[in-house]
Amino acid sequence: MMGMAYRDKDIFASLCQKMLPVLEEKKQRLGRKLRFMEVCGTHTVSFSKTGVREVLADYVDLVSGPGCPVCVTDQSDMDQMIAFAKRSDTIVATFGDMMKVPGSYSNLYKEKADGAEVRIVYSPSQAVEIARQNPQKQVVFLGVGFETTVPSIALSIRKAEREKVRNYFVYSAHKLTPPALQPLIQDPTHQLDGFLLPGHVSVIIGRKGWNLLESLNEPAVIGGFEPIDLLTSIYLLTLEMNKERRSVVNNYSRMVRENGNEKAQELLKEIFEVDSVKWRGFGILPNSGLRMNAAYQSYDALTNLPVDRPVTKGIKGCRCGEIVKGKETPFGCPLFAKACTPENPIGPCMVSSEGTCSTYYQFERGKEKITY
Ligand code: SF4
Repeated sequence: MMGMAYRDKDIFASLCQKMLPVLEEKKQRLGRKLRFMEVCGTHTVSFSKTGVREVLADYVDLVSGPGCPVCVTDQSDMDQMIAFAKRSDTIVATFGDMMKVPGSYSNLYKEKADGAEVRIVYSPSQAVEIARQNPQKQVVFLGVGFETTVPSIALSIRKAEREKVRNYFVYSAHKLTPPALQPLIQDPTHQLDGFLLPGHVSVIIGRKGWNLLESLNEPAVIGGFEPIDLLTSIYLLTLEMNKERRSVVNNYSRMVRENGNEKAQELLKEIFEVDSVKWRGFGILPNSGLRMNAAYQSYDALTNLPVDRPVTKGIKGCRCGEIVKGKETPFGCPLFAKACTPENPIGPCMVSSEGTCSTYYQFERGKEKITY
């Protein structure tokens, strides 16, 4: 199938005829609906936007996972980023979606209004340009993202090195996706039947990058984002449940290769090293983040630009820590769509367009029957 065919209504309808009875049969055998986690925030949006969540609702509970990088960024990282913005000799460069993410006492948007130099950029290389044009300032790029985002940040560091820009730094709050799934699989209270794995991350790490799930014998399917991708991935997950020995299924082979993007992987290894880092809601997860390695320490904002970081405190009433683990739906938060809206977000899951609260606000309001 090519391009638009993955959205073809007739093909979708005929696949539903074939696949939905298989889901129904499995549901009958289990005596409950199936419970699959969509790990990626883009999948959460796609299920709602395309209406596929509704099509599957009688058979499957779709549980949102830790797939929005802004949402899983720990509160202490936010406080660190805001503290960089408070330095009088520093320009903070960031993607726009970080501006309203709350720290313990402030956010970047407020800091900018109070006179801090915070600039929104569309690529990390723009931040290198800002550094070149402002040699008297230190420029910190806020590195927030999964495996998909890190290659462009690694390239910006290479660019700064090649062009001898010495006042460019990166604060690396990058996360690696597979290690966050292990505690969810091993949580006996969770009862997840399998994982729909993120297509974009898989383009970088490849099918092989999910070896961990294979070793845990967990049903897992790599999927794309069009209606037919979503439906067939859920169907394949159901088939995997019936197998004794599972392997990670690549249902996005038009984009994802077995070994992923090896060039991007080499670039990451050249500049970063794996570290155990803190995630919102999860705490410290072993080998789940990337820090600058010894050879690139001179670009590391954390070691080169000291700040007074305040004591971190949680956001009163916000349930994002539970939402990113799929333990709670946005409807479980008393602030949802009342005190907390996209115009006035209280937690990160409402700030990011890929956050579960923001997606539910946009597409699922009034459907409070959705539970996990
Ligand atoms: S609705 Fe707002 S306050 Fe509640 S969990 Fe979501 S982001 Fe946090």
